[in-house]
Parts: sequence; structure tokens; C-alpha cells
Amino acid sequence: MERFVADQLEEGPGTALRIYKEIWQQGATSVAEMGTVRRELRERLDEVSTIATLELARRLDSTDGSIKFLWRLRDGAIVESVLIPDGQRVTLCMSSQVGCAMACTFCLTGDLGLKRHLDPAEIASQPLQVQRLLPSDMRITNLVLMGMGEPLHNLRNLIPALRICLDDHALNYSHRRITVSTVGLVPQLAELAMALPVNLAVSLNASTDAQRAAMMPVNRRYPIAALLDGCRRLPLPSGKRIAFEYVMFAGINDSLDDAQRLLELLEDVPAKVNLIPYNENPDRPVLRRPSDEVVKGFQHFLINRGMGCTVRTTRGLDISAACGQLGKAEAAAMQAVPGPAR
Ligand code: SF4
Repeated sequence: MERFVADQLEEGPGTALRIYKEIWQQGATSVAEMGTVRRELRERLDEVSTIATLELARRLDSTDGSIKFLWRLRDGAIVESVLIPDGQRVTLCMSSQVGCAMACTFCLTGDLGLKRHLDPAEIASQPLQVQRLLPSDMRITNLVLMGMGEPLHNLRNLIPALRICLDDHALNYSHRRITVSTVGLVPQLAELAMALPVNLAVSLNASTDAQRAAMMPVNRRYPIAALLDGCRRLPLPSGKRIAFEYVMFAGINDSLDDAQRLLELLEDVPAKVNLIPYNENPDRPVLRRPSDEVVKGFQHFLINRGMGCTVRTTRGLDISAACGQLGKAEAAAMQAVPGPAR
């Protein structure tokens, strides 16, 4: 921003900061709205720039209060963000890529393949634009990078996007309220942990390599032992734990033997476990959701042995906004989008 303002407007860092705050604090969508910038500068800025915003393509409201926002990007690609209000906590689940290259077998976004990475502004604009659409008494309190895409596969754009989310001249979220979820790209996980103190979540989803490799191709590159070894070495602040996400599939990874192996795997890792009962989908008829009793039994087994463990409540099923369902509506819209740009 500073270089652009110096090159194009021959103005100093003070003007750059004013423009930056107009965009990221005030949510200006046009130069004309930038009331803190002199009129003559606005006119020059208008000649040399446009403010790219996300265009709302569709909004879907769930009966449970969650809301899915579909955004059309400048090349016509569609991505989505999901708002999940829960009392005082209002979480926005954000996307980091158009499609995803990781090909997890249980995930509809994986079916799309990777179309392209989102740029920093396309990532950071999601909370900005959703906030503008909410009632004035509702504020997004938490951001999670768990939507479409593998955030750490797009680390070079994710880090500047997160800096905008954290910056008190911009979106001003606390690092305690931002969580980045990954399938476990080990080197990038370390890079992120060294760059920013955000919360980390790792999709483990299995208690053996055979189970994990069958559903997550990334396991061939980073088997469980390598992944957990990487997690043990992360420079985490004291007291901070990594959330291990464990999607539960009936008859596949939901037994108490799995729970016991999970405990052994996570020994010496600063860990807590988040169980996610699988959301059944007609596109994956062989995958079934375990009963509530099985999920509870698994949770209690872990808790009784000292492992922090929560069960994620399913939200947004009726609007295909629940975990692993993102991408259905986007598939048709994206057919015209060109292939991956890495
Ligand atoms: S679960 Fe996440 S990483 Fe895996 S294919 Fe889906 S979006 Fe990609």
C-alpha cells in the first residue's frame, strides 16, 4: 500500500495508512466513500485504482440460524463463507482456495480439485463483507479457516490475509479468536506457527496410517508419526494446545480401540480432540454417521483418561454448509473457471 501510494500519488505513509483504514476498517467499497482522504487525492486515486470487493452471489439461511454466503470473484469463480451464530459467539468459517487439491475422500470440496488460490484480499474480505451484511448488534467474534481449500497450501497469501485480520488498523481480531485448520502440511504448519500465534487445528481423522491414507491422500506424504512429530516441535506459547479434528465414520474409526490408539498417538503432544460426527451425504453412500451413543462413548473414553475432548454440533445441514459439504452449489458455477494456478 505504501509503495503504491508513493508511486501513484506521490504521498507519504500517513496517506497510505488513511486509505488502508478506509478500506479495512471502514469497509469503503469505492474511493468516493473515503471521507478522510482529500478530495483532490480521491480523484487521482480513482483514476489509478479500483477497490475489488466480493460480490454476493447468493445467501442461504439455515433453520438453525447459520448462514451460507456464496461470493462471486472477479474471474467468475464462486467461494463461500459460513456464519455460525452460537449465543455470544459468532463464528465465520472462511475459504482459502477455489476448490481444493487435497482430495480427502469424504469431502465434496475435494471433488472440485484446485481451481486457484484466493489472494490475501479475497480471504480477508470475507469477514469484512459478511460483517456489513449483519445487523448492527451482531459482531463476528471468531474466524476459522475451515471452509473451501487447504489454507496451508496457500500460505503465501494466507499470512498477509491473517495480518489484515489481526491488524488494529484493519479488522482487529485477537489471535486467540482465529483458528487455522489443516490436513497436516508439516513444513507449512511450522512456518505458520513461527509467523503468527493463531490457533491451530489439525484434521487427524484416523488412529492408523491405513485408515488415514484411505481417506486422506496427504497421509502418503506426511504419515501420522511425521505429522505428530512436527506438531511436537511447533513453537507454541505455553498452555496452548493444538485441536485435533477427528471426523467419525461408523464402523471405520469409531471404536474404543481407535480411541485408545488416539490417546497413545497424542501422548506428549499439546493436544485436545474435537470429534465431528460425519454428515451423511448421498454422494458418499458407504460412509455413515455413528450413533450419538457411540460418539458419546468415544468422547467419555478420552475425557476419562485426561484428554480434553469436545463434540462439534452439526450446523447448516439444510443449506449444505456443514463440514465436508461445501462446494456442491459451486461446482456448476465453476465449470468455466480455468485450471490451477500455483
Ligand atoms: S477436507 Fe479440507 S483439505 Fe480435505 S479436500 Fe476438503 S477442503 Fe480440502
